[in-house]
Amino acid sequence: MSGPFYSLLPTLRPMKTIGILGGMSSESSIEYERIINKAVRERLGGVHSADLLIRSYDFAEIESLQEAGNWDAAGQLLAGDAARLEEAGADVIVLATNTMHKVARQIEDAIRIPFLHIADATADAVKAEGIEAIALLGTRYTMEQDFYRGRLTAHGLEVIVPGAGDRTFINDVIFNELVQGRIVEESKQRYLQIIERLHERGAEGVIAGCTEIELLVTPDDVDLPYFPTARIHALAAVEFALE
Ligand code: GLU
Repeated sequence: MSGPFYSLLPTLRPMKTIGILGGMSSESSIEYERIINKAVRERLGGVHSADLLIRSYDFAEIESLQEAGNWDAAGQLLAGDAARLEEAGADVIVLATNTMHKVARQIEDAIRIPFLHIADATADAVKAEGIEAIALLGTRYTMEQDFYRGRLTAHGLEVIVPGAGDRTFINDVIFNELVQGRIVEESKQRYLQIIERLHERGAEGVIAGCTEIELLVTPDDVDLPYFPTARIHALAAVEFALE
């Protein structure tokens, strides 16, 4: 329940309030906002748009905590703000980045409202296509650490990640180009070559497991089933808000 106005007039409230922890980076947060607002307008019609509370960070602050391995401080920061979004009236929390789901548990422990985990929404989408072996692209944290791969594996998926050199390239493009708003055609072509190699290793589909990757490589660019996590996550939030 969200604020005094709505508690007085609950029947006038057509949707729940989505709390977004964003800015990681701002390039993909804008997409979350756009996708959510568009989907709500399509569903409810007229001049409807989404009911959102957004906490958007300076990504430099988040990136330096990642680089320093200071995940506990990052978790405390995000958990505190998730609690404040709940206090302000959010009915659900969406963390608009794959990588920072490394601290999902800290956030979940700080709130009473639901937390929509990006890997759960993505695994559901992959399984709905009947896919078992899935390639995972993302930051080096997401591709190499268990917090994300393990979550997908727990859903019964076999996760295939690029080799070491390709992982470095993918990670560098994210931080040196995509989060800075730079879309480079040559990088896109190398991503597509990496996806082809993953297909040869048995991947039946590809997870764009970093919310900026879908700004570079779209489903139309890829012959395999392609899972853009920002879009999947944003639409899962809309489903929750309207259910
Ligand atoms: N947005 C990215 C992700 O989905 C990467 C930025 C970050 O390191 O948080 O993982």
